[in-house]
Amino acid sequence: MIEKIDHIGIAVNSIEERLRFFKDMLSLELAGTEEINDQKVKVAFVKVGDVNIELLEPTDPASPIAKFIAKKGEGIHHIALKTNNISETLKHLNENNITLIDTTPRQGAHGKKIAFIHPKSTGGVLIELCQE
Ligand code: ZN
Repeated sequence: MIEKIDHIGIAVNSIEERLRFFKDMLSLELAGTEEINDQKVKVAFVKVGDVNIELLEPTDPASPIAKFIAKKGEGIHHIALKTNNISETLKHLNENNITLIDTTPRQGAHGKKIAFIHPKSTGGVLIELCQE
């Protein structure tokens, strides 16, 4: 079951630079930063009530985020929906011919299980499923 929007992922060239807006200008709280090596990204979570903004900065030109920025520029990269059972959700979507990028969950930031749904099945938005 989908419970809520967990976070909104924004691709940025520099987390430090963008925090000047989100943290310094909007006085939002930086909940933490983390490097995810298999995605070649650094992430920073900014708290907006019980939803986070996830700033994603590439750490390598081969990072999917670097490719996204090269193609589209900085901007909204994905919307993450929290599910209480990611395996069940993926199975249900797969059985209904939704195009998945990940058919099995993988490790995301904060030790969460995550999986991505292809934008062609969602109206052009990359959707991340995540489970605590
Ligand atoms: Zn995310």
